[in-house]
Amino acid sequence: MNSIAERLTEVRRKITEQCERHQRRPETVQLVAVSKGKSTAAIIEAFQHGQVLFGENYVQEALKKIQDLHDLPIQWHFLGPIQSNKTRDIATHFQWVHSIDRLKIAQRLSAQRPAEQTPLQVLIQVNIDDDSAKAGVAPDQVAELAEQLSQLPNLQLRGLMTIPAIKAVPVDAAESFAAMNRLFLQLKAQYPQIDTLSMGMSADWQYAIEHGATMIRIGTAIFGAR
Ligand SMILES: *Cc1c(COP(=O)(O)O)cnc(C)c1O
Repeated sequence: MNSIAERLTEVRRKITEQCERHQRRPETVQLVAVSKGKSTAAIIEAFQHGQVLFGENYVQEALKKIQDLHDLPIQWHFLGPIQSNKTRDIATHFQWVHSIDRLKIAQRLSAQRPAEQTPLQVLIQVNIDDDSAKAGVAPDQVAELAEQLSQLPNLQLRGLMTIPAIKAVPVDAAESFAAMNRLFLQLKAQYPQIDTLSMGMSADWQYAIEHGATMIRIGTAIFGAR
């Protein structure tokens, strides 16, 4: 399988299969195609095959693509670390941000979100494995940050995101995903608008779906190696 269209079709087929295996409706799992390092032509090919949600990690690279593709009704998701000097670009050009882990950054995004746009949809990134190489808040800090974010007028808190520590085998991520699902359900019980649990990448998304992911972020399996 070498075309993006074929790989996308195959990924979707497997997602449906995995949902059925775990008694979940396939429409409860959204697919974000992670296009970092890939060309606008690659994004267009995926879009022409029905892909609407795209994820990017680097602001400069993303802005160029967003500009080039402004005619297409793509929903852009920011997934990478956020520097203070990039918050205005992110607040202006993205619809979703998955990587919120500091109040100060969230305050800037809210203040810089253009008034004519709908609120920026945001997720709190959780460092579920306490991995020093990963961004994100500790699980016991989620409640406090959620409370603070819910006060910001131009952000809408939609849920949680995680990237587990690198595991010896992908199935080892299952425990981390299960822990995330427990945190997600607690938060959802407190805030009615919480509906999104973003977890699972090319190597481990099957286990993320098994443990309640509502959004999976897949790059390599759609676009090929970076
Ligand atoms: C790169 C990236 C992905 C996609 O990773 P693949 O292994 O290529 O599917 C998903 N989420 C985040 C946050 C990423 O940085």
